[in-house]
Formats: sequence, C-alpha cells, structure tokens
Amino acid sequence: MYWCDKLLGGVSGPQIINDSKTPSGRVHVGSLRGVLIHDIVCKILRERGIPVTYKFGVDDYDPVDSIPFGMEDHFEPYRGFPMCNVPAPPGSDASDMAMHYIEEFFGLFGELGVEVERYHMRDVYRSGQFNEAIDTILRHPDVVREIYLKISKSVRPDTWYPFQAVCEQCGRVGTTEVHDYDGKEVTYTCRPDLVTWAKGCGYRGKVSPFDGRGKLPWKLEWVAKWHSFPVTIEGAGKDHSTKGGSRDVSSACLRRIFGGQPPLNIPYEFFLIGGAKMSTSGGKGPWARVMADFLPAEALRYLMLKSPANRPVNFSTGENDIVKLYNELDRCHGQVMSGKANEDTQRIWQLSALDDRGSYYDANFQLVSTIVQMPHLDLETEIEKQKGEPLTDLDKEHLARRANSAKYWVDHLADDADKTQLQTSLPASSAELTVLQRAFITRLRAVLDSAAWSSPSLQTLLFEVSRATPIRQGDAFQSLYRIFLDRTSGPRAGNLLAFLDRDFVLERCSEISVDTAAFWQASATDATTLSVWLTKQKTDISAATSTTQWDADSATGCLELTILDAKEKPHLHRFLLEASDEASCASAAESLLASLA
Ligand SMILES: [Zn+2]
Repeated sequence: MYWCDKLLGGVSGPQIINDSKTPSGRVHVGSLRGVLIHDIVCKILRERGIPVTYKFGVDDYDPVDSIPFGMEDHFEPYRGFPMCNVPAPPGSDASDMAMHYIEEFFGLFGELGVEVERYHMRDVYRSGQFNEAIDTILRHPDVVREIYLKISKSVRPDTWYPFQAVCEQCGRVGTTEVHDYDGKEVTYTCRPDLVTWAKGCGYRGKVSPFDGRGKLPWKLEWVAKWHSFPVTIEGAGKDHSTKGGSRDVSSACLRRIFGGQPPLNIPYEFFLIGGAKMSTSGGKGPWARVMADFLPAEALRYLMLKSPANRPVNFSTGENDIVKLYNELDRCHGQVMSGKANEDTQRIWQLSALDDRGSYYDANFQLVSTIVQMPHLDLETEIEKQKGEPLTDLDKEHLARRANSAKYWVDHLADDADKTQLQTSLPASSAELTVLQRAFITRLRAVLDSAAWSSPSLQTLLFEVSRATPIRQGDAFQSLYRIFLDRTSGPRAGNLLAFLDRDFVLERCSEISVDTAAFWQASATDATTLSVWLTKQKTDISAATSTTQWDADSATGCLELTILDAKEKPHLHRFLLEASDEASCASAAESLLASLA
C-alpha cells in the first residue's frame, strides 16, 4: 500500500490540514516537498469523501533574523522587524518584504495543481483571531517554562512570558521580552542583547498583547494555530520532529494548556541538492520558481512524491540527475499504461500526473535535449521516427513541454560540459582516444559507407563493430561522443549518428587513424585467458573461425579467433604471433590453433 494511504488509514471525519512558510527570502525548491505532501494528503482524503480544508499560512509576523542573500543594503536596518512591516526591495511592486517573496511562491501552487486556503499571520493577529489563545497562553507562563525545561532542556527565568510585543518605540518584535501580564497588558523590554542578529532600542513599555500588538514565539504560535483553526493534520520537516524538538514542545503545550490533541504529524525528510540541505537565506538556488519553469508539473510532483516522506530526496540540475528523473518518470508512466505497474507505482503516477486525458508517447528526454541542441533537425519528425507512427495531438503537446524543459535546461541550468554542441572540426581532445577506440572508429568507418542510415540499424551496427574490435561498448560509444560532441557521454550513439549527415560522419571518422601493431598489442589475449573465458561461458560454442593477419610495416602478425556462442553471437579473441615474415606467421598460427584445440 502506498505510504500515504497507509498513514491516513485511521483518519475519519472533517479535516483541517495546515502548512506554512516564513517569507524570509526567495523560496527554495525544497520547500515544495511539504506543500506537495500536504496536497496528496488532501487529495487522498477527498477521494475517500472526507471534507478537507488545506490552509497555508504566511508567517509574516516573524522577525527578520537573517538577510536575503545580496540584499544587505536594503534589509540591514530592518533586522528584528516583523516581515510584513518591512518595505519590499527597490524595484518591487509588492507592498512589503513578505508579499515580495511569497507571491512568487504562491504563483506555483496553481501550476502544480495545489489548492490552498491562504492566510497571513498579520491578519490573524490584527483581526484578534488569536486573542483568546494569547490570553490563555499568557495565563500559563509556568506551564510553558516547565515544558521548555523538561522537553527541550531550555531554561527560561521565572520572569519570562511566552510573548513578544512589537516595540512601540523602534518597531522591532524580535528583540522584546515580556516579564509580566496583568490580564489586560504585558510589560516588556526591548533588549539590545536579547538576540545576536538584531539590536533592541532599550525601551520599556506596557501594552495590550491583543489585535496585532505582538506575537507568540513560534512554538506557541503553532499551538495557537492548532487550537484556533483547529488543525488536525500537519507534517513537519524532520529537523522539527526529532525527540525533544519543537514539535514535542508544541504538542505538550497544546495538551497541558488547552487540553487539545496535537494534529497528525507527517515527519518528512529533507530535499537535498547535490547531497546538501539548502536554506532560504543561503542565496543559492535552485529556486522553486526556477524548477517549476524548468520541469513540467507532473515531473516536479513526481520528484517530490516518488519517495516516502521519511526518505530524503536528493537531486541536482546536472545532466545525470535530470535524465534519471525523466527516465524514471517515463518508466512509471509506461508501466501504468501497459497495466504492469504495481500498486505503489500506479498511485505515484496518479498523484503526480495532473493530465488524465489518456495515453501519450514519452519522448526520451536525453534525445529531445540532443535534438533541440541541433538546429538542423526537426523535433517532431525525429521523434515520429522513434515512435514509428504518427504523433497524436496529445503526444505533440507533451513533446512541446519536454522540448521547452530541455531548452530551459540548456539555457539556464546546464554546465558547458553537459551541453551537446556538435563540433564542426575534430576536437583537440580526440588525442586522448585509446588505441582500441581508434581501432573501433576506423573499423566503423569501413562499414558505414553501406550502412542503412537509421537509428536502430546504426545502433545494431555499433554493437557488431564493437564486438568485432573487440572493445567495451561503453568505451566504443564514448569515442563517438568524443569526436562529434567533445564530451564523454551523450544520447544513444545510434541516434546521434542518424541525426548527422553520412558524409560528415565518414569524413570525421577518416580523421582518426590507428597504429595496427599497437592495436593488436593492446587487444591481444593468451591461451590461459581464453580458457578462463571458455569455462565462464554458460552455453556451448556453436562454431569458431579464424583468420591470420600480417602487418608488413611493423613486421607483426596476429591470429583472430571468432567464436560463436550457442546464440550465434560472435566473440573475437586476438593472439599475437611470434613471426619474422608472412610465411612464418602462417605456420605460427597453425601451431597456435593446434595447441588451442
Ligand atoms: Zn525597541
């Protein structure tokens, strides 16, 4: 059973899901994981006929405690201010910092098929919606202190109250400390030394804690949300969900102060970029907006949902990870379409794909990416050849999305080394080709003249020539990427050749030469190796042929033994011969064959 179906198995009755984001900077793609996990919770429950509200809050009464990357000049004076009271950076048409950063994020929700009921903490506080919860919490400071000490081992003095007033003199909220509550007003100090990231003005005052004149510390703000909305399901990143962590503190406060039941937790693991956790203030992407511009919605949803919540998702925008993501997505789709998908795969596809208009052809991403980087090719024509039948309108629509994705990747995300640039002349790095790779190319050149110029035929030919060289297939393909693209990887080599003009390919291959003696030397085997190979063969040998060759220039001879296995697949074994001329070479070959027999 899909992990989320299992998790929600015992849930019944109307539900309120809550999630939130602090608008402290441009939003990183990792923040989408929680958004989408809550989205599938919502969709799964609705499927079961359960009424669900998915609330998504903007924690814009939080203080500015770090400066968005590169924005020091603008934001530095506002350290400690509630984010909703900080002006947006110059050039922005947003009303404030919070709106500036959160609007872009909310813009993605619709594109990703996520529907939420949005709220802003500034409105919640200012409208008095939390007044009752604030009053109740302020009447139990001892309980909060006790829980902080017991669960998270943090000591709060007897004069500490769980509230932060907005300083009436300087406007900061992150620097104030409350030391008394008389049921109507709190007494507070704006301390220069309360936190390291902002400096209070020293003002002491007395003010009502209601209607937006201050905020609860965030662990208590969580409690107030759970109690007031009231929240029944809320997942949290694993950093909050550890034993003794903020989740435990908030749950204990809810139970003790309000007698409430904490919402169902869905602890979820990090979304890692190249193995590292990214933060909003770190200043590095990839940003959520960028990833949504890059990946079609189903691919981005699939990326976030393919692994259970308790497993980290690791990703990068490097070619390998992108190609892997698309290939996994296509495999998942293919299995679903062919009816071969298991229950989990089916569920993941259903929850990732927003398009239920039926089956469509998945054009291989690496292929699409290669084609869009070769301006002389027509994408639809080439993909139609791959599919083997005309593309439907739906095929074309998905192909266009994939082409846009590939172009976006090439233009914005790919390293130069990952780009497919057809080399107009033989790259200098071809000097690094091994002698086996050189031999492979010259042998390929010899048969390309008469080859059928289509991807499948060329791919078959490449396998045959590499087996007859012999050279490892990976090394063989790499030699072609090297001489045509100046890289070590690329699309299926048969596709690559088929995309190019035959004369162009022949000419490029002709520029590669090989030293025959060195090649024979490098590819030679001996009787012991052959006998080991023979015993490893699971099937019987069906036939063997041999040819003797003499290279007069280097005065070297060799015997090539081609063994056909039971499936008639040829395996070439090359032996160097001790000989001084062609005649002695022939007799050396005969005695070698006799000894091998
Ligand atoms: Zn102040």
